[in-house]
Amino acid sequence: MPSQKPTSASPLPTNRTYCNFCPGYCCYRLKGSTLLLDALDINRLARHFEISDGEVRKRYIEGKNTFKTREDGSCILLSNERMCKRCSVHLARPLQCREFPYGLPCPYLDRPDLLEEIQPRVEQALYGKEGND
Ligand code: SF4
Ligand code: SF4
Repeated sequence: MPSQKPTSASPLPTNRTYCNFCPGYCCYRLKGSTLLLDALDINRLARHFEISDGEVRKRYIEGKNTFKTREDGSCILLSNERMCKRCSVHLARPLQCREFPYGLPCPYLDRPDLLEEIQPRVEQALYGKEGND
């Protein structure tokens, strides 16, 4: 998730309507950004998977407080199915995932530089190639 917030002049709405049609841009790690998890987030996932907090840490957590990512930077809990990129733990997702983009227009839809960085990764995952050709 990007640290820079969008400008208030954005023409995009601040609700999450776009999330329903989005391949989960915010589920890809960008340089310099981190998804921070706390103990409550980890325990929520442990209850979701019916495993211990320690097992959640072992399977999904990198360092002390963020998710492991795949080679393309996607969160390890993003569904890896072709043609459908969705959070696989939607009901048990961490607080930061629930709150992003914090009542502001989504920066991924507002900033071409972010889309340029992530769109090729999304297309690679969805279609197995870069670009639309
Ligand atoms: S917050 Fe933005 S990037 Fe994340 S799913 Fe919603 S529209 Fe997509
Ligand atoms: S937990 Fe779900 S919503 Fe949060 S980054 Fe991972 S895939 Fe995305």
